[in-house]
Amino acid sequence: LNKVDQILKDHGLRVTNMRKNILEIFSEKRIALSNNDIEKELEFPDRITVYRTLKKFEESGILHRVYDTSDNAKYALCINGCDEENHLDGHVHFECNACGNTICLDDTPFPMIKAPSGYIGSKTEILISGICKSCNVMN
Ligand SMILES: [Zn+2]
Ligand SMILES: [Zn+2]
Ligand SMILES: [Zn+2]
Repeated sequence: LNKVDQILKDHGLRVTNMRKNILEIFSEKRIALSNNDIEKELEFPDRITVYRTLKKFEESGILHRVYDTSDNAKYALCINGCDEENHLDGHVHFECNACGNTICLDDTPFPMIKAPSGYIGSKTEILISGICKSCNVMN
């Protein structure tokens, strides 16, 4: 089994060409991608199927959703161990003002942020915008 087949199998999903193609795009690009981004990459894009596939992947713990500063929904590959019950992707996201890419900072966990007493938090999101590593020529 190749990596993509293995991911589908691990999450109990049937292997289809569309699912494989979409997952391959994600593992190749390593950035967060919107429905439109995916459609552009596919040889035979089908809006509804792409939409459904991304939703299914999110529900299965293969992708997590990221909103960029313009409030566009994008998806990014999950770390191992996410499943339909729990997404463990408690990391910071970075949006580059130069290339427009949204990137998972997998190794940058959230600092401890606690909601005040009486509030029940269920999700924390942190998005840093600026200049990414590839666009930073000083780097
Ligand atoms: Zn996840
Ligand atoms: Zn950049
Ligand atoms: Zn992420």
